[in-house]
Amino acid sequence: MKIETSERIKKLPPYLFVELDKAKRKAREDGKDIIDLGIGDPDIPTPNFIIDALAKAARNPKNHRYPLDQGLPEFRKAIAAWFKKRYGVTLDPESEILPLIGSKEGIAHMPLAFVNPGDAVLVPDPCYPPYKSGTYFAGAEPILMPLTEKNRFLPDLKSVNHAIIHKVRMMFINYPNNPTGAVCDKRFFKDVVDFAKKHNIIVCQDAAYSEMGYGPYKAPSIFEVEGAKDVAIEFHSLSKTFNMTGWRIGFACGNRELVEGLARIKSNIDSGVFFAIQWAGVEALANYDKHIRSVLKIYEERRNVLVDGLKALGWDVAKPNATFYVWTRVPPRFTSGTFSQALLEKCDIVATPGNGFGTNGEGYVRFALTVDKRRIKEAVERIKKQLG
Ligand SMILES: *Cc1c(COP(=O)(O)O)cnc(C)c1O
Repeated sequence: MKIETSERIKKLPPYLFVELDKAKRKAREDGKDIIDLGIGDPDIPTPNFIIDALAKAARNPKNHRYPLDQGLPEFRKAIAAWFKKRYGVTLDPESEILPLIGSKEGIAHMPLAFVNPGDAVLVPDPCYPPYKSGTYFAGAEPILMPLTEKNRFLPDLKSVNHAIIHKVRMMFINYPNNPTGAVCDKRFFKDVVDFAKKHNIIVCQDAAYSEMGYGPYKAPSIFEVEGAKDVAIEFHSLSKTFNMTGWRIGFACGNRELVEGLARIKSNIDSGVFFAIQWAGVEALANYDKHIRSVLKIYEERRNVLVDGLKALGWDVAKPNATFYVWTRVPPRFTSGTFSQALLEKCDIVATPGNGFGTNGEGYVRFALTVDKRRIKEAVERIKKQLG
């Protein structure tokens, strides 16, 4: 039998990191001392108080059953309480909050609930890949909104093509932003909400890095803007905030019809998050204030070591206000690809080429601050010696 993949798989954008992944694996096998600034996955372990909550809940047989489709009531209540305290926004735990098996899962499923074949979805470029793949899986076309330095990596809503706007059902935005580290203010969210209302577009705001803000910067929720609940759903994650990437826990919140539609897709595909993990999530959110400061301090120090180090080499690089990424132009003699290759071959450093996140990422590289500051210092030394 000849086995053929579906058209939707064929449509997926090529995975640009294949060659880099291969080279990285080979370098490791060759015994090279690799500094991996490639993946956005915290190196810091999950705090013990969260692990203890999981262990306790895992011993309770009540938690061994299928989790409820709409999630544990106590977890939804904990989310509502945290949201009120953190953003001053009231959410109804019954109808405006949905636990997710990591926010990626909800993001990728969202177009299936509200987008038809032939429709279009606005996605930023460069971007986190599931916005595009989720769109393709729903049979729709992504329409790119370029994120450029000139616009501080915010999409220019006025330049969205008017000839096709009637086809647009949904848009993705992501602030604080991966990969650019850019942030937005409430005024931008207000512009997005107005734009969405005018053109009947569902807004999906990815807030995975909402808690990774430095110094005085605190990211807003889109629901701090009046009227946002009419058009928007926001995706939150415990992954980055609590160093829980492997646990798979996040949530969607906002407009109840949007939450309900996503829940209907999910109830036919998965059966929710292991109850014990949701209990660990309750504990995590309840201790947010105590936990977050120490984590931010670590990333802020790392950010300063990398950015100050690169600046001392003459690079024009700015300190991001949020996220654990430093997004910067590659030196002029390189492309994203050749620079990442040179970093690996000459410096034993892994960094992500910007074009892997979309064509508008060409000319950039993304460094993830997911190794300790001593290793980041070492990375800067290597760049100085080999590529300076
Ligand atoms: C890490 C990340 C996520 C999702 O993380 P989950 O572990 O699935 O909750 C979502 N969006 C962006 C932009 C990310 O970088």
